[in-house]
Amino acid sequence: MSIAENIAAIRDQMRAAALAAGRDPGEISLCAATKMNDASAVRQAIAAGIDCCGENRVQEMTQKLAQNAYEGRPLHFIGRLQTNKVRQVVGNVALIQSVDRMKLLEAIQAEAAKQETVQDILLEINIGREKTKGGFDPDEIWSVLDKIPVFSNICVRGLMAIPPISENPTGNRKFFQEMCNLSVDITRKKSDNVCMGILSMGMSDDFADAIACGSTMIRVGTAIFGRRNYDK
Ligand SMILES: *Cc1c(COP(=O)(O)O)cnc(C)c1O
Repeated sequence: MSIAENIAAIRDQMRAAALAAGRDPGEISLCAATKMNDASAVRQAIAAGIDCCGENRVQEMTQKLAQNAYEGRPLHFIGRLQTNKVRQVVGNVALIQSVDRMKLLEAIQAEAAKQETVQDILLEINIGREKTKGGFDPDEIWSVLDKIPVFSNICVRGLMAIPPISENPTGNRKFFQEMCNLSVDITRKKSDNVCMGILSMGMSDDFADAIACGSTMIRVGTAIFGRRNYDK
């Protein structure tokens, strides 16, 4: 199957999942997780109609930016971001999806202020409360949101989550549902610099469930590009 055929199949599944949940398929976007795929593969995915590109590693992103790989679509950063690399990301991407700790919020604020720009971000939530994973604890998110107004060069556009790896096919539904509830609660609260709207959740194996639970953006790698070759 070609990249274009894979994307067409995913679009069909996205549409079916949205309609089954009584949702408008047009409100869900497809972010291609492009890690370990080269500029040519990224261009094919863009030509086949993905909505945005998500990159995980700063070095890989910088290389592909130099090759104009993402031309025509917004670029998002979706990987773990070290504070010493923030300078290479702020201003270069439309959205940083993986803001997972207060130190990173502070570093993004400082860099965005220096560049006299406003950086759109998502807050990553550690919805499975996993010790090994980054992300804000869902129980601590309110105290984080209280501090957001001081970050005047940051605009929070929504939430992102990577739930635990699940043994059974629908195992992540409870986490997706919890994310959706959290997103609704935060939207109701209405704080400065917080403009909810994006709920980024669902990957190759579980995006239909994520859509059923309210996802507005799925991040898909393997189902578009095939298995990543970690031996390379
Ligand atoms: C790689 C990656 C994805 C996509 O994972 P697949 O299972 O290949 O679809 C989604 N989100 C993040 C943050 C990723 O790093």
